Amino acid sequence: MNDLLTQLRLKWFFATKTLKYTSDYLDRSYQIFLNHNKVIHFRNGHPVYSLSTPALYSKPAANFFAQQFYKIIRNKSTPNLMSFAVTDVCNATCGHCSFYDYDDAGGRKKAVLTLPQAQKVLKDAQALGVSVINFTGGEPLLREDFPEIVRSVDKSLSTTILFTHGGFLADRIGDLKKAGLDSVYISLDFADPAKHDAHRGIDGLFRRAVQGIAKARAVGLSTGISCCITPESFRDGEFQRMVELGKAIGVHEVLFLDAMPTGRFKRRKDLVGNTAWLEEMVEASKAYNADTAYPGVLVYAYATSYRSVGCSCGTDYFYVSPHGDVCPCDFSHVIFGNMLETPLHEIWDRMNSLEDFKSVKFGACKIKDAGWQDKKTVSGAFTPYEDGSAGTCSSCPSGIEEAGQPARPAR
Ligand code: SF4
Ligand code: SF4
Repeated sequence: MNDLLTQLRLKWFFATKTLKYTSDYLDRSYQIFLNHNKVIHFRNGHPVYSLSTPALYSKPAANFFAQQFYKIIRNKSTPNLMSFAVTDVCNATCGHCSFYDYDDAGGRKKAVLTLPQAQKVLKDAQALGVSVINFTGGEPLLREDFPEIVRSVDKSLSTTILFTHGGFLADRIGDLKKAGLDSVYISLDFADPAKHDAHRGIDGLFRRAVQGIAKARAVGLSTGISCCITPESFRDGEFQRMVELGKAIGVHEVLFLDAMPTGRFKRRKDLVGNTAWLEEMVEASKAYNADTAYPGVLVYAYATSYRSVGCSCGTDYFYVSPHGDVCPCDFSHVIFGNMLETPLHEIWDRMNSLEDFKSVKFGACKIKDAGWQDKKTVSGAFTPYEDGSAGTCSSCPSGIEEAGQPARPAR
C-alpha cells in the first residue's frame, strides 16, 4: 500500500509525464509503420502522417485501435484494410496494369456490382472491422455513381481513399468532397508529362491530373502522388524527380509502389527476388522525410518489409474485385469466394485460416518471392482458389509479354 507521499508523487508523475509519453509512443508507432513521423497535413483539424492511415484521433483511428484490442481477445486476425475495385472500366492502357488480364480470366462475363451490391460490400467490410477503405478500379471515376458509393461508407468507422489516374478528378471533386472522401492518390509514373502520357496511353493526362490535385487540395482533401516505379525508372532517377515534383505541386505525400509481377508484368522475372533496389529506395526516402519542406515519402516496399507491418494480404488486408470476388490483395489475384454468394466473414475465415495467411510474411512481398511463386495462395492472374488445383492463369500464353501488348479495351 502506497503512503500518502508516494501517492501524491505518483499523481504528479502522471500529470507531468503522460502527455510526453503519449507523444513518444505515437512518434515511435508512425516511425515503425512509415519510416518517418512527420505530420504531412492537418485534415479537419486532425494530424495526418500518411494518406494510408486514419488521421490521428479521428473516429476511424479509434476504430483501428479498438479492433487491435479485439483481435487479441478473439486470438484471430481481422482486416484493417479493404481495397475495393468499383469498376472494370478504364480508358488508360498503362504498361504495368495489374488489372490487365481480367479479361483473360473471364472477368467481363460477370456483371459489375450494382450500387446496392457495392453498398453491401462496404457494410459487410465495416462489420468485419476495416478502418481503411481504398477505392480502385479500373478507373473509379468512370463510374457515375461513385460519389454515392463513397457516401454510403460509415465515416465514423473508416477513412476513405481514392486511387485515380486523375483525368476526371477536377470535374468531379465537388461531388467527392460532399460525399465525404478523405484522401486521393493520383497516379503519376513519370515527372515528364509526355513520358507519363505515353506510358498511360492518354494525351493530356498529366496536365489534367495536376489540375485535379490542385482542386482536391483546395477543398481540403489529403492529396498524394501514387507512382508505380520499376527498377529501370528508379535507376534513371525517377524517384528523385517524382519527389521534387510532389514538392513543386504541393501534394502531402508521394507513395512509391514498386512494380509487381502481376497483370501486364506477370512474366517479368526480373521483379522476383530483386530487393537491392528496393533497399536503395528506402534509404533514399530518409533525407526527404527528415526535411519538412518535402511531402511525406512512403515506400511501399518498406511498409511491407519486416521493419513495418510486413506483407499482410489475407492477414490484415483483402481486395474485392468489381463483381465481388475476394482476393488477398490488389496484386495477388487468387479468388477465395464471392461476396454476393458467401458472407464475407466466411470467405475471410477460409482465407485467413490457411497457413500462408495466419501471420504476415516477413521478408517482403509474397508474389515477388521466388519461394512463394508456385504456391496455390499466390497468383499474378485472377484464379479461383480450389484446394489442390489453383495456379497461374491457364489461358495466358507463355513467354515474355510486357512489351508490345494489346491495350485492354475500354468500355
Ligand atoms: S489507370 Fe492504368 S493501372 Fe489503373 S486500371 Fe487503368 S490501365 Fe490499369
Ligand atoms: S503480396 Fe503482400 S506485399 Fe505483395 S502486393 Fe500483396 S500485400 Fe503487398
